[in-house]
Amino acid sequence: MPQPTIFLDRDGTINFDPGYLNNPDAVRLIEGAGAALKLLKDAGYLLLVISNQSGIARGLITDEQVGRVNSRINELLEQFSSVTIDHFFYCPHHELFGNEGECDCRKPGTGMIEQARTRYEIDIKNSFLIGDSVADVLAGHNAGINTILVGTGNGSEHISVLQDKNKLPNFACLNLYESAKLILKIKSGASAC
Ligand SMILES: [Zn+2]
Repeated sequence: MPQPTIFLDRDGTINFDPGYLNNPDAVRLIEGAGAALKLLKDAGYLLLVISNQSGIARGLITDEQVGRVNSRINELLEQFSSVTIDHFFYCPHHELFGNEGECDCRKPGTGMIEQARTRYEIDIKNSFLIGDSVADVLAGHNAGINTILVGTGNGSEHISVLQDKNKLPNFACLNLYESAKLILKIKSGASAC
């Protein structure tokens, strides 16, 4: 059976974003993030992170450091909320750095969502993409997934950029916890935020 899925941005959505996060000891979860993910997991959603990590192409962080930060996020989620992310996908590229040139996985590209779809059977129609940036919302639009922009991270600034582009998200919520509550409300058949 195809699984409804929550595609999650990582930095600024689940954890605070100090910029090119490379130290697992510096990981701080955003308030309510663990509780939000637990609600969604218990409601039957697959939890997949899709994260742009251009710090790798820029030579500022390594794949190994990204892996350690991801492990630390799951460790904290498990410890405080008894939930874990099912899989972390990330794009290590940036078109201006490294040898790869332009890739299809860097959001707003849909490559990470496509990777997820080769690995998992996903019910796209009942899935959501939650993030704090223009690239997240556009990736959701490009993949035909409902988008929620959170107000944490870059969210409060990026909403006006999206408005100018006429690419508003389907929903805007204060944070990941409010997003989870909204999704459960929609799932139960209610219509409004
Ligand atoms: Zn990429």
